[in-house]
Amino acid sequence: MRELTAEVVVAGAGPTGLMLANELALAGVDVLVLERMHERTGLSKALNLQPRTAEVLDLRGLLPRARDRSFATVADGHFAVIPVPYTGWDTRHPYQLGIPQAEVEAALEERLAEQGVKVRRGYELANFSQDADSVTITAGDLRVRAAYLVGCDGGRSRVRKALGMAFEGIEGQGHGVAADVLFKATPPGAPTQWRSMTDMVTSGSPGKFIGVIPLAEPNLYRISFGDRLNRPANLRAEVTDEEVRRAVAERFGPEAEIAEIRWASRFSDDSRLAESYRVGRVILAGDAAHTHFPAGGQGLNLGIQDAMNLGWKLAAELRNRAPAGLLDTYESERRTVAQQVLNNIAAQNALIPTTPNQLALRALFRDLAELPEVQHHLSGMVSGLNIRYATEESPLPAGTRLPDIPTAEGPASTLFHKGNWVLLTKTPTPKPHTEVVVAEVPQLPWPGIEKVLVRPDGYIANTTGSTNGWLT
Ligand SMILES: Cc1cc2nc3c(=O)[nH]c(=O)nc-3n(C[C@H](O)[C@H](O)[C@H](O)COP(=O)(O)OP(=O)(O)OC[C@H]3O[C@@H](n4cnc5c(N)ncnc54)[C@H](O)[C@@H]3O)c2cc1C
Repeated sequence: MRELTAEVVVAGAGPTGLMLANELALAGVDVLVLERMHERTGLSKALNLQPRTAEVLDLRGLLPRARDRSFATVADGHFAVIPVPYTGWDTRHPYQLGIPQAEVEAALEERLAEQGVKVRRGYELANFSQDADSVTITAGDLRVRAAYLVGCDGGRSRVRKALGMAFEGIEGQGHGVAADVLFKATPPGAPTQWRSMTDMVTSGSPGKFIGVIPLAEPNLYRISFGDRLNRPANLRAEVTDEEVRRAVAERFGPEAEIAEIRWASRFSDDSRLAESYRVGRVILAGDAAHTHFPAGGQGLNLGIQDAMNLGWKLAAELRNRAPAGLLDTYESERRTVAQQVLNNIAAQNALIPTTPNQLALRALFRDLAELPEVQHHLSGMVSGLNIRYATEESPLPAGTRLPDIPTAEGPASTLFHKGNWVLLTKTPTPKPHTEVVVAEVPQLPWPGIEKVLVRPDGYIANTTGSTNGWLT
């Protein structure tokens, strides 16, 4: 056994683990990332970054590299495959960025390497034990002693299971298949570019769906199909070529010729949420903490934002800068958001009609979704733009995201690149704490508000500018 030490061990180098490791490294934390796979597969489940995730990456200067690796800019999101534009949201990024999950991971891993952290591949976390001061993790021939372990090891998380953590939720009835299919020529009627969610998903019969998204390579498509009412006896059974061919023929007719099925995977419509996100020195994030049907394209986005919420709090805890209870707000804030996502997924599921009554309800809902206020509400939900962390007592805009307003130093987003706090003020104000960057602004978008103290993750802490309760 080789003995190592680290301040934090991150188990899993998916999008959540890589984002978290980046955040910790940025704060100067000694982080060690264990990944069971010897190399990245290059395959992608997720294909999008939501507007709030684009903003979050922008706060760290990471958005340009994601954009360089993207293949589409999509003007809207969707709710139960009803397109919803980002109406009324004050954001510089009112779009989904079409980018394969593998490219998000590659961009994050590249940035992590630039920060001097190399993912230790081929190391599968086997088990761990913790006491009051540390957690000891074994993986392959490594034994690592750390202050914290974060399980970012996906939906079947070994960390979560070893904690004995309840992972309850809604057991779905159906299933889906995602397949990357190369056609010999553009299938009849298929879009050649992904620009909108309109007509991306169709339904031939009640409960069934087929979605088509053109990918970066000519004639390469993500085909997603399934049945919301039925599932195979074995949800882990390999997807057969025949299943994919049948779905393709159903959507495009017999003349769509397949050149190659690159990858196919089955997924369930179960929704589950960990009962707690933390036991002592062991914390859960991303799919390890929550899984759901990929409606609306939210899972990867949720994981990256979990990491953004946790990183600065854990770093503050390790540097003795965190007031009592700050780390606990990771669970109270992010588990609430995950529960909201699970609720919106359940609502989307209910809007996929299987009876005439539900068909009528969906038609009515579709009409309502034309109203600007409804579009604003729905797109805020699936994009993450509507997240508010504050308690009900805190006056707005506390708890909401800071829009990217201009400051004397440039766009507000550029002030967060080092993972620091920011005080935006209309009048000269002394620095309230060494961790805080102070910038003057000509205007703030809230009447009567003179200053806002903004957390490293871009959420407004308060309108007094006081760091009490946030930083020691
Ligand atoms: C078909 C499908 C389509 C989807 N589409 C979208 C979409 O469009 N948009 C969206 O936002 N989300 C989508 N999702 C969800 C998204 O893929 C997940 O939410 C995302 O992968 C979660 O990231 P993660 O880092 O938390 O976990 P994962 O991506 O699962 O990463 C976990 C990592 O941990 C590693 N690991 C596991 N066990 C161990 C261990 N014991 N030791 C060390 N390493 C370990 C794994 O190898 C893996 O690299 C989709 C999901 C599916 C199934």
